[in-house]
Amino acid sequence: MGEIADGDPVRLPDPATVFRQRSQRLLVLSEGHELQGFLRMIAAVMAAQHAALDGLPPGAPDDVWRDALRAILDTVDPALLPDAARQVRDELKAASPEELKALADHFLAGEVAAGETARLVFVVAALQVAWTQMAARLDKANVRISEQHPGLCPVCASPPVAGVIEPGGTKFGHRHLHCSLCATQWRHVRVRCVHCGSTDKVSFRQIAGTTYLRAECCESCRGYSKVFYVEKARAVEPFADDLASLGLDLMVGEEGFSRVANPFVLGDGTEH
Ligand SMILES: [Zn+2]
Ligand SMILES: [Zn+2]
Repeated sequence: MGEIADGDPVRLPDPATVFRQRSQRLLVLSEGHELQGFLRMIAAVMAAQHAALDGLPPGAPDDVWRDALRAILDTVDPALLPDAARQVRDELKAASPEELKALADHFLAGEVAAGETARLVFVVAALQVAWTQMAARLDKANVRISEQHPGLCPVCASPPVAGVIEPGGTKFGHRHLHCSLCATQWRHVRVRCVHCGSTDKVSFRQIAGTTYLRAECCESCRGYSKVFYVEKARAVEPFADDLASLGLDLMVGEEGFSRVANPFVLGDGTEH
């Protein structure tokens, strides 16, 4: 992030680093974590995403994601996968193009069936690789934040996984939202609901003893989003840090707030 000006409204992903940083950060966060096994598995998938993106020929995401999937299934470290995930990997290797297309279509349409969630870890990983490659090749001068839906990714219209506030710009810093699919970052006004745009009934929750992370909760639509404060935790990687802080989701979920879940935890009950 060092070479990018603080005030950039849109930042496209760096394919050389995005998945490696996620994987490394998540491995650090997994140490001693109550979800250690799950987080290490996802870190292994992210490392495979990095390798897959490196060798991926350019093309439209709808075409290249299956190449990415094959590369991920071939390179993910089986020693870090639980038995069930190893079985899912083998099923996906044998799946027909039609089955794979149906899985991708269901995820992209937000219509995931209960029996699909285990396979979707790998499918989502491959879609992220394909969409990140596509986003990285765009000219950022041509990418505009939507006036109608400023809380959705200006490249692929997916919801953000979280927001990050960095120092600079004004004394309060800027918030950038991070796309859950293509890893694009875009600026979004602070203390403004990412779901409905309301500014007047927004309040914050945090886990006791944690200062680098808060949930921005909106009384108007009962939605929430996570905000990370880089000043207090330099190494934050929002996708990894989101997975390692699911306790905050449980806390605000009990109060009745909801959001679009991190795509790697679809179907575990945090999604509404
Ligand atoms: Zn996106
Ligand atoms: Zn709202």
